[in-house]
Amino acid sequence: MSTEHNWPEDFSHENGNYNNDCYMCKTVFIGHKRRHVCRVCATPKSIRDQLAHLQSQLDECRKELTARLAQVERERDALTAALVDCHAYLMQQLRAKSLNDSAKDGTQKLSRMVSEVLDAARAAVAALSR
Ligand SMILES: [Zn+2]
Repeated sequence: MSTEHNWPEDFSHENGNYNNDCYMCKTVFIGHKRRHVCRVCATPKSIRDQLAHLQSQLDECRKELTARLAQVERERDALTAALVDCHAYLMQQLRAKSLNDSAKDGTQKLSRMVSEVLDAARAAVAALSR
C-alpha cells in the first residue's frame, strides 16, 4: 500500500485511521471511515505534479540552507578562535606595558576598549548562532 493514497490529515481525528477500499482504483488506503476515494484519485494529476515540483524545490532549499548554516558555523568558530588569540596577545602587551606606571591610564583605557570590542564580537557571534 502506497502512502500517497492515504489521508494523513484524517489520522488525528476520531475514526480517521480506517482501512478503506478506494472505489475508483481499488487501492486500500488509510483515512476517515466515511471516505470512499483515496487521496490520489481525489487529487487532479496537474495538482499532484505541482505539489511534487514544490516538494523538490523545498528539498533543494533545505539542502542549500543546511550547507550555508554549516558554513556560517565554521566561520563563527574561526572568528571566535581569532578573537581569543587577539585578546590573549593584547592582554600580554598590556601587562608588559603596565610595568610602566606612566602608561597605566592608557593601559586601562586600552583594556576597556579590548573588553568592549570583545563584548561586541561575542554579541555578533551570538546573533549569528541564533
Ligand atoms: Zn484511488
